[in-house]
Amino acid sequence: MSFSELGLSDKLVRAVAEQGYTTPTPIQAQAIPAILKGGDLLAGAQTGTGKTAGFTLPMLQMLSDSGAQRPGRPAVRALVLTPTRELAAQVEESVRNYGKYLKLRSMVMFGGVGINPQIEQLRRGVDIVVATPGRLLDHVSQRTIDLSHVELLVLDEADRMLDMGFIHDIRKILNVLPPKRQNLLFSATFSDEIRALADRLLNNPASIEVARRNTTAETVAQRVYPVDRERKRELLAHLVRQHDWHQVLVFTRTKHGANRLAEQLTKDGLSALAIHGNKSQSARTRALSEFKAGTLRLLVATDIAARGIDIDQLPHVVNFDLPNVPEDYVHRIGRTGRAGAEGEAISLVCVDEHGLLRDIERLIKRKFEQTVLTGFEVDPSIVAEPIQKGRQQRGAQGGGGGQGGGGGGRGRAQPKPAAPASAKPAQAQPRQRPAQNAPRGGASHAGGESGRGQGGASRTAGQAQPRSQQRSGGQPPRPTQEGAGAPARNRRPAPQAALLGGAPAKRAR
Ligand code: AMP
Repeated sequence: MSFSELGLSDKLVRAVAEQGYTTPTPIQAQAIPAILKGGDLLAGAQTGTGKTAGFTLPMLQMLSDSGAQRPGRPAVRALVLTPTRELAAQVEESVRNYGKYLKLRSMVMFGGVGINPQIEQLRRGVDIVVATPGRLLDHVSQRTIDLSHVELLVLDEADRMLDMGFIHDIRKILNVLPPKRQNLLFSATFSDEIRALADRLLNNPASIEVARRNTTAETVAQRVYPVDRERKRELLAHLVRQHDWHQVLVFTRTKHGANRLAEQLTKDGLSALAIHGNKSQSARTRALSEFKAGTLRLLVATDIAARGIDIDQLPHVVNFDLPNVPEDYVHRIGRTGRAGAEGEAISLVCVDEHGLLRDIERLIKRKFEQTVLTGFEVDPSIVAEPIQKGRQQRGAQGGGGGQGGGGGGRGRAQPKPAAPASAKPAQAQPRQRPAQNAPRGGASHAGGESGRGQGGASRTAGQAQPRSQQRSGGQPPRPTQEGAGAPARNRRPAPQAALLGGAPAKRAR
C-alpha cells in the first residue's frame, strides 16, 4: 500500500516521500480514507503510531480542495487541539512539512509566550490553527480569533487533555464552533470519560483502533533494574557510560527531581538538562532542540512536559522513577520504538516502587524480567518509604510533577506532602514501621488525584527520619523483589464524565 493509493494528492505524496516515509502506518492506512470520506472519527492510537500524519494529511487534502474556491484572506477552517505546547509545536511542524507544496497557512498557538505576535499572525490570515486550549480561549475572549468557519476539529491525545483538566475549556471551545463540522478524536486510551466526550462530540463516527489498549510497542525492549533508591543516579550514569548511550530521555516523577537529577548528571560529566512546566518556554525549546540535534546527551523530563516529544527513533527511555499512574508508563515508553524502530526502555526500580511496578505489569499484561547489576545489588535492610505525589496537579499545562523531591533520595530532612490516603498509602507502606509512621488519613480527594497537593496533604513522619534510622538495624530484612503486597489502587483522576454535565472545576491552562 502506498500513500497515493490512499487517495492523497501528488503534492502531499511528494512531501511525505521527502520525509522518508514510503509505506503508510496502520493508523494512516485506516484513518486517511475514513477522514477523506468526510465523516467523524474516533481513533485509538498511541503516540508513535504515525497518528499525526494520519489526521494531518487528509486535513490538508480536504482544505486545499475546498480552499481553491475561497477568495481573499484565509479564515480558520481547521482547529487542532493538543494538551501540551510541545505537542502543539510538533503537530504544526508536521502540518508545515506535509503541506509544503500547498497554499495553506498554519500557526501554532500556546500560552507562556507573548500573545501579540499570535494576534498579528491571525490578522494576516490562517487556515489551520494548532492550539492548546487555554491560549485559544484567551484569543476567543479577546475576539482576536474567528472560529465561525471551522470545518474540521481534531482533538489530539484527548485522554491526556482530560487528565490535565481541560474538559471545561474544551466545552467552551465547542460552544463557539459552528455546529456543522467534521470532528476527529484521537486518544491512546478509552476510558469512560473519553467515551462520554466522544458521545457528545462525534456524530456517527467511524471507529478505528490500531494498537490494543494499553499495550506497549513490540519493538521496545523493556528492562527493569532493581536498585537502591539512593543509587539510582549512580546506576544511570553507569549505564549511560557503559553502553555509550547518547540520546536518553529520562523520566522523573517531579519537577524538583528532574532539576536535581539534571544538575547531578551534569556534575558527573554527562550533559543533561531538565524540561518541565516551571521552565520558560524558551528554555524548554532550547533543551529540546539540543537534545534533538544530539548535542545534549540526557533530557530529564516530567510526564506532562514530555508529552509529544517526537524524535525519530529515540533509542533510550529511562524511568528514573516509575510513574504514579500506570498508563503513563505506556506513554513514556511510546517515546521509543516509534513507527517500527527499535528502542529500549529501562526502569530503575527501588523498594518503594514495587507496588507501582506490579500495577504496570497488570496493565500491560506482561511480567518484567529483572536484572540485578553486579555492584548495584539491592540492600535488603532498606525499608520502603511512601511515594510522594508527582503528577498531582491537574490542569498544569506543560507542567507535570508537583512538589517533592522525586528521584532517588527524596527530601527527607523536610517533610513534604505525601499522597492522599485514598490514593496510595499502600504504595510503600513500611512493613515494620510503628503505626504512627504510616501516612495519616488526611481528607482524601475524589479519585485520589488532588490539585497541587492541598487535598489530603497528609504527612508521613517517616519522611523526616534521618537516613540512619531508616536502615533499621533490628528489623528483619525485606525481600528484595516483589515486596510488600499493595492492594489494587485507583489512581486515575476523578471521572471527567460527570464534569461533562457542568460541575464547576478549576480552569486549566
Ligand atoms: P506520531 O505517532 O504521529 O507521533 O508519529 C510517530 C513517528 O513516526 C514520527 O516521528 C513520524 O515522523 C514517524 N512516521 C509517521 N508516519 C510514518 C511512516 N509512514 N513511516 C515511517 N515513519 C513515520
